[in-house]
Amino acid sequence: MSNVLRNIPSVNELLESAPLRRVVDRVSHHVVVTGVRSFLDNLRRELHAASAERRILKPAELAERIAEWILASERPRLRPAINATGILLHTGLGRAPLAESAIQAVADAARGYASLEIDLETGDRSQRALAVERPLRNLTGSESAFVVNNNAAATLVTLAALGAGREVVVSRGELIEIGGSYRLPEVMEQSGCRLREVGTTNKTRAADYERAIGPDTAALMKVHTSNYRVVGFTEEASIEELVTLGGKHALPVIDDIGSGALLDLGPYGIDGEPVAGDRIRSGADVVLFSGDKLLGGPQCGIIVGRKKWITAIMNHPLSRALRVDKMTLAALAATLALYRSRDCAEQHVPLLALLTTPIENLRNRAERLAPQLAAVPELATAEPIDDVTYLGGGSVPAQRVPTICIAVTPRRGTIDQLAHRLRVGEPAVVGRIQQDRLCLDLRSVPPSDDRRLVDAFEHLGAGP
Ligand SMILES: *Cc1c(COP(=O)(O)O)cnc(C)c1O
Repeated sequence: MSNVLRNIPSVNELLESAPLRRVVDRVSHHVVVTGVRSFLDNLRRELHAASAERRILKPAELAERIAEWILASERPRLRPAINATGILLHTGLGRAPLAESAIQAVADAARGYASLEIDLETGDRSQRALAVERPLRNLTGSESAFVVNNNAAATLVTLAALGAGREVVVSRGELIEIGGSYRLPEVMEQSGCRLREVGTTNKTRAADYERAIGPDTAALMKVHTSNYRVVGFTEEASIEELVTLGGKHALPVIDDIGSGALLDLGPYGIDGEPVAGDRIRSGADVVLFSGDKLLGGPQCGIIVGRKKWITAIMNHPLSRALRVDKMTLAALAATLALYRSRDCAEQHVPLLALLTTPIENLRNRAERLAPQLAAVPELATAEPIDDVTYLGGGSVPAQRVPTICIAVTPRRGTIDQLAHRLRVGEPAVVGRIQQDRLCLDLRSVPPSDDRRLVDAFEHLGAGP
């Protein structure tokens, strides 16, 4: 044992080796020195712990191994991935992919300077959200529009601007929690307004809101129960009823619709998702929604509604802290431009293109890809199966989207090991494990990624 330990080369010797000198050229000297030290520490610990005498690698092999280890640990944590989970709005995988025109707009805005807060016509200072104000007004029919970092931020600043120090009335059936620690009562508390809960979990009527209205009431709020449904013996006040009530008591009605479809998704089998323009037409004063859910754009929170309220929100100090950057605005403007017609949006907004892909297309692709995967030595089987998936991202919990998967099983090792190797591979692939098989769901894989999907399997390393 001590002999083996004594034969481990020194840090300096290893640093002189060709493989590690090559690594120094790619990462910093400091990273390599620390990497070599911790690799050797681990090795010594392993050798101490090993009961049997272990063969020590030759110095050249050892240097090669350390170099690979350092490069692997220096890979970026944020890497592109193929989403084969079938969940179209997978928050863990970045929700909606961007349209080609949006990607180009981001690149153009990022590369140099942009007219972010300058009116090029007059040379005067302007407001950054004006980049998307007009298209948002046109698409929703609202008087005014504003954009912040995400819908959580939109809710926070809206409540702060309209309700701080006073009460906002919300139904007990709509006090939502969305993944990633978004809880409406906590956001309300942070905004400085007081939550006034009315009704019950399953039944809330307009009269319940009305009874709660008093001198301290600042607003009425409706929240779309994006990630759950209350079913059975239920009742809720419609937006129209709240608008009538708001009008009677001169109170603004805030409507958090969540995923923010700009089109009715009923024709694609997605029912019950509020459409932003419908809510404006129904008279809601402020409508809030995410940019990266059903809209299919970049992460942001969109606020549309009456000019009076939007101006108050824009002028609130929190708006400065929650503002979006030029890349988000560029991506959003380009995405909104695709909504000039339903056809155009369906074709060019990736989320809608994936959602509307006919099942026969998915089946044809699966039948073409399955034999290619079955030929990969690491796999025992690969076959197309019919399945269902969900939109995800806290949207439309109950609606099943028909899909086709390729179900694969490994020749050796477990399903979890195979899933792990694919996740850390190049490109990274994330699938879903189901009944002892790894399912690659084509609903969330654009056809342009088919080749890369097969590549990922062909490049599977020797093992975990
Ligand atoms: C998703 C969602 C939010 C949070 O939106 P983010 O853009 O994720 O911050 C808030 N309210 C509702 C109703 C939602 O569906």
